[in-house]
Amino acid sequence: MRCIDFHTHIFPDHLAATTIPALAAAGNVKPAADGTAAGLLASMERAAVTASVVCSIATRPAQFQAILDWSKRIRSERLIPFVSLHPASKELEREIDLIREAGFKGIKLHPYYQDFYLEEKRVRHLLRVAADADLIVVLHSGYDIGFPEQERANPAQIRALIESIPHLKLVAAHLGSWQQWHAVEESLVGRDLYLDIAYALEFLEPAQARRILCEHRPDRLLFGTDSPWADQAEVKKLLLELDLDTNLTQAILGQNATRLLGEGEEARGEG
Ligand SMILES: [Zn+2]
Repeated sequence: MRCIDFHTHIFPDHLAATTIPALAAAGNVKPAADGTAAGLLASMERAAVTASVVCSIATRPAQFQAILDWSKRIRSERLIPFVSLHPASKELEREIDLIREAGFKGIKLHPYYQDFYLEEKRVRHLLRVAADADLIVVLHSGYDIGFPEQERANPAQIRALIESIPHLKLVAAHLGSWQQWHAVEESLVGRDLYLDIAYALEFLEPAQARRILCEHRPDRLLFGTDSPWADQAEVKKLLLELDLDTNLTQAILGQNATRLLGEGEEARGEG
């Protein structure tokens, strides 16, 4: 069965060697892989993950072109890059066009690393342009382990966003909002947005995880791990241990992602 990890991070080899230890120290976390493409592919082999969405984060507007170029180099059947642009960019429209023209399916945004608040006008504008271009947006949602807690993209803010841009294909990472899961249950569960399970099951009581996964729309849940910040095989095990209905588990592990990515051709012949 096809398994798609919708939330992973890797870096160009020369950056991984310094970036991974620096991020690990900032968040006081231990990486489960070395943050390179080869490291991710090896992890996918161990965890029987068919394809991984690679989420880049532009921490400055000037990084856009380098991220786009690198994304073109690493893309394959198994690695699906989501490009990143910075909300402070003066050329958002052009950059969205370039992402679209290159055939990428989505972008990743991170309110802490990119220093924005979800309700800002410039951010709303960016998201509207992305939605009009039919790009999927993976949004880091909720608090971040590497920063003091701030209300940058919390469940109420995310709810307001999807109400203002209903055609946006939004993935609220970390099961809707990291460490804000009671608010997720109040504001997001059952709504028309995707939740990925990255870096969430490790922190949640199984009962609450099961409740969110069973009460949200079954076609709007995605397997994700945040690799290298979690081990893909471990996260898969945590999901299976929740003992959800088989159909729901399969939808989460791969079917929903396959449909969202529109990968009819690649999925063909796999039964
Ligand atoms: Zn992440």
